[in-house]
Amino acid sequence: MTHSDLLQIAKTYGDPVYVYDSEKIISQFNRLTNAFNDVKHLKLNYAAKALSNITILRLMNSLGSGLDTVSIQEVQLGLLAGFKPESIIFTPNGVSLEEIEEAAALGVRINIDNLSVLEQFGSKHPDVPVCIRINPHVMAGGNTKISVGHIDSKFGISIHQIPHLLRIVDLTKMNINGIHMHTGSDILDIGVFLYASEILFETAKNFKDLDFIDFGSGFKVPYKEGDIETNVEELGKKLSSRFNTFCKEYGKELTLAFEPGKFLVSEAGFFLAKVNVVKQTTSTVFASIDSGFNHLIRPMFYGATHQIINLSNPKGRERYYSVVGYICETDTFASNKRINEITEGDILCFRNAGAYCFTMASNYNSRFRPPEVLWHQDKAILIRERETFDDLIRNQIDSKDLFIPIHKKKEASVVK
Ligand SMILES: *Cc1c(COP(=O)(O)O)cnc(C)c1O
Repeated sequence: MTHSDLLQIAKTYGDPVYVYDSEKIISQFNRLTNAFNDVKHLKLNYAAKALSNITILRLMNSLGSGLDTVSIQEVQLGLLAGFKPESIIFTPNGVSLEEIEEAAALGVRINIDNLSVLEQFGSKHPDVPVCIRINPHVMAGGNTKISVGHIDSKFGISIHQIPHLLRIVDLTKMNINGIHMHTGSDILDIGVFLYASEILFETAKNFKDLDFIDFGSGFKVPYKEGDIETNVEELGKKLSSRFNTFCKEYGKELTLAFEPGKFLVSEAGFFLAKVNVVKQTTSTVFASIDSGFNHLIRPMFYGATHQIINLSNPKGRERYYSVVGYICETDTFASNKRINEITEGDILCFRNAGAYCFTMASNYNSRFRPPEVLWHQDKAILIRERETFDDLIRNQIDSKDLFIPIHKKKEASVVK
């Protein structure tokens, strides 16, 4: 996909617009698969929350991926996209027992992350196998909002509670078929992964009927040219070898599972927006675009960096710009970044816009959410339409007779 392909997409579908390159998604999937060549049974379960457009889910299904889901609605989306129930794992946090029962009734794999629900679920449905989410208490991840395995985290069952967990399993006679962890996002140090994996292996020895061990996700991807990223090849070599040794000790060929989101889709995504205004103040040159954190919240929410390219003037002289959105509060995408000279009307491209971008978009400021386009086999395919005013108003109930406009009240009193 070239710059001119992207510009053509902005022309055809308008701006702002999200674009996803299927080839990049496929190559990332193959890269991770190849890194774990030495393992007999590998299962990648794509984390749907990163990018949940149904056509993207269908693409993942066609690659042989499973699906990691965190809400009953994601489970339903996955089934609608053609995933078999047994290819879907439900890994929620803090949801009701009823929601977990609903997922179990749909036949998907269940992952439970607290003792309270484990005990209730096990007592009622001892015949349904369950995976348990362990919190190994390892500090990992890019920042505190995305680190989920540490001691103060709300996720998982603490390794210090294993004795209690074992009592519940024993008393309910439930079947534990998997052990799981997910310690955070943007984990760079594979040593952290390997260390946490040892804790999982140690935990796994307590259960006789395991089918899989799920090592979660959190691979860091590059956010700009030459940026650091998780060395998945090295992780693959080291963890595969350790995993195979464990399986020998355990006496069964288990499945090694991962649930990558960002790794599969982040770099495949591009967000295109037009510059409405270039404003020079005493200290800064602002480029204001026809979008805001309602469409791409990561910079404002996480302090995430998205590289920005001026597609309309790629050879122009580089100058410093602050790229800002139209939301009526602080809405900064990037501060004082070198970008090829910007003129009003230029199309800017935000990179790494595949993961946690569209799925976090909202209608704040009563704006429409943008369309999504898949670039597949040298063709642009619209996979979500731009919203319209009807979408904004759809579920609102306009109680027309509840309040009389003040000018009508006045008219009424004059008549009297
Ligand atoms: C969000 C999430 C993932 C995906 O994390 P990435 O950093 O996007 O790869 C995997 N597993 C669980 C349980 C998650 O909640």
